[in-house]
Formats: sequence, C-alpha cells, structure tokens
Amino acid sequence: MSKPKGINTICTHVGELEDTEFRGAVSPLYMSTSYAFEDVEVKRYPRYFNTPNQVALTRKMAALEHGESSLIFGSGMAAVSTSLMAFLRSGDHVVFQDSLYGGTSNLVTEEFDKFGIAYSFAKDARIESLEAELKENTKVIYIETPSNPLLRITDMKAVAKLAKKEGLVSMIDNTFASPVNQNPIDFGIDVVIHSATKYMGGHSDILAGTVISSKEYIDRIFQMAKNFGGSLSDYTVWLLERSLKTMGIRVKAQNENAMKLAEYLNSHSDVSKVYYPGLKDHPDHKLAKEQMKGYGGMLSFELNEDINVSEFMKSLELIKPSMSLAGVESTILLPSKTSHGLLSAEEREKQGIKDNLLRFSVGIEETEDLIEDLEQAINKVIKN
Ligand SMILES: *Cc1c(COP(=O)(O)O)cnc(C)c1O
Repeated sequence: MSKPKGINTICTHVGELEDTEFRGAVSPLYMSTSYAFEDVEVKRYPRYFNTPNQVALTRKMAALEHGESSLIFGSGMAAVSTSLMAFLRSGDHVVFQDSLYGGTSNLVTEEFDKFGIAYSFAKDARIESLEAELKENTKVIYIETPSNPLLRITDMKAVAKLAKKEGLVSMIDNTFASPVNQNPIDFGIDVVIHSATKYMGGHSDILAGTVISSKEYIDRIFQMAKNFGGSLSDYTVWLLERSLKTMGIRVKAQNENAMKLAEYLNSHSDVSKVYYPGLKDHPDHKLAKEQMKGYGGMLSFELNEDINVSEFMKSLELIKPSMSLAGVESTILLPSKTSHGLLSAEEREKQGIKDNLLRFSVGIEETEDLIEDLEQAINKVIKN
C-alpha cells in the first residue's frame, strides 16, 4: 500500500506494531524497561525514547504532521521546554508571539533568566510585530495559532519565510488546531509541538506531549531530551495510540459543533461578542481559511455586561466549568480567573481579555443539547 494520506487512515493505521504471534488487531504493549543489547550501538530504554511502543507512536505522529520524525513526551510542557532548550544557549535570544499558553509563558518568564537566555514578546500576532523584535542574537521564533483565548491567527507562511531569511528556527505550538485542522510543516514551519493531553488524547485522561520535525532537528532535540528525562511511560504511549485512532472523527465533530454554537451565540441578544475564526466577522477569518482545514473546537464569548458570569457558569448543567480543554465533553472557563489569572489586570486588558470573557471548549455532544444548556443558563441568570 502506498503512503496513506487521509487523516482518518493515518489515525487508524500508521505506525501500528504488528502482533506477529497472535495477529491481534491492536499494537501489543511492551512494558519492559530493560532490553537485551541488539548490538553495541542500540541501547533500548524508555528514557532513550526508543521502546517498541514509543517508536511506533512516533511514526503515527510524524505522518499526522507531515514531518520526517517525532518524539513522544511525558507532558506538553516537557515537549515545549525540551524543544526550546535544544535550540537555545546562554547569550541567545528568542522571539515569542504575544499571547501564549500560560505554562509556556511561565517557563519563559520564570526560568530563562537563569540560563542567560534573552526573550521578547511581540506586541501582537502580526508578522511586522514579530519581525520588529528580532535581534542580532535571535535564534528561534515561536508562535501559537489559533491563540488562547482570543483565537487570533498568525500567518504561518510569513513566519516560516522570515525564519528562513534570518536563519532562525521556527516553532509552533499546534495544540489548539490539532493535526486534523492545521499542518504547519506544509507552510514551512520547522518544529511542531503538541500537548497531546488535549485533542490527541481527547478523553481528559492522558498527560502527554509530542514534537514533530525533520530527522536532523529531532535528533538534536533527542540529545537534550534524554538528558532532561521527559519521556512517557509505555502504558500511556499505548493509550495515546488508541486515542489517536478516533482523533479525526472527534475533531471534525468538534469543528462542526463549534461552528454551529458560534453562529448561535453570535446571533444571541444576551451575547455581546463571539471569538471564533470560522465566523466571517472574525478579524483573521481570511487567514484562517487559507491555512486551516477546519476552524477548531475552541471558541470564546462575552455575555452582556449586566449578566453575572459566575452565576451563568454555575447554572450550566451539561457544560462543565473546568481547567483543561479539548476533551469529548464540553467545558468552559473564565480566563481572567484561571488560565490568565496570574497576569495583572492591566496586562489582561492590554491583551484584550475582559473579566467576563468565557472560553468554551466544545465537545462532541449533540449540538441541540449544548444550545439548550446555554439557553437555560442564560434565562436562569437573567431572571435572578
Ligand atoms: C495544555 C497546553 C500545553 C501544555 O501541555 P501539558 O500537557 O499540560 O503539559 C501547551 N500548550 C497549549 C496550547 C496547551 O493547551
């Protein structure tokens, strides 16, 4: 069979380990931490990222993101921190997009000084703003699109072009889009990172991360990874492989639900603003259409000022207030109190994150049930 290209075919089949003994339908699980030497060169050990299940899953990850090679990590942050550190050393500088996942911005602002690594945050996600932060010693440019929580879109092709021109490594956190909706390597981005805890795992029961790139860059990240020790245990690797089989259909269902909910909220008289790249009035809709295959399952919205958002959240019955995202179940949170709660009020205002902004991770429930839940919660708070 030639190389399968369709997303669901990759999800279900690529990289599987063959059960030659019993011909079972799924990959056998190898839990050994100790393997006999194959020859003097090959040392098989989980922290060397080379057990049978780890290697099998890297093949699926590479195929999903159209890269040559991949590594699987114990968390998204292990993938983010190890990938950044592999390309940066004391005296170097890195440019980040303005709004980053909270854990990544904590990594940068709390740790980078200790390693003598300088950094800048661009004032917004536009290419001119990223370019304006470049210095003599800049080595890496790092983006996240769609961004959290306002779903702004960064132009991947322009970032890749700028990186090539300046001799920088371009990196993206592609977690929010998932490989179903966006493949940054096709646009020239060098290194693609995911928190596999989110759409890849998809059932809110796995913590994992991955990085996909060229063979050369993955070898370089591996040199750092084996020393930092952020590998994933084989049992969870195996569970993640199982989860990925349904990622294509899950994410497509989430895309569809999110689009319908965005339209419903957008036309609701008690909702003042909706942020969803699939909506025609989203400021980056055109760019999203150019570089995304689907607009994703994340959306944000603001209720009218006179509505008490905490009461609204408490009144929801089906949609759960929760910290994480991208599971099959719908969840909602207030960024000002949670993901962006550590920022000062001025910083939040600068980023456009209002106190009543709600971030909605849309699940796979029936659209009608989700709409009914939102409707009854709005009606309840308005009556009170
Ligand atoms: C959750 C998340 C991370 C961190 O992943 P963990 O698996 O929690 O370590 C990084 N980036 C984005 C965009 C995320 O949503």
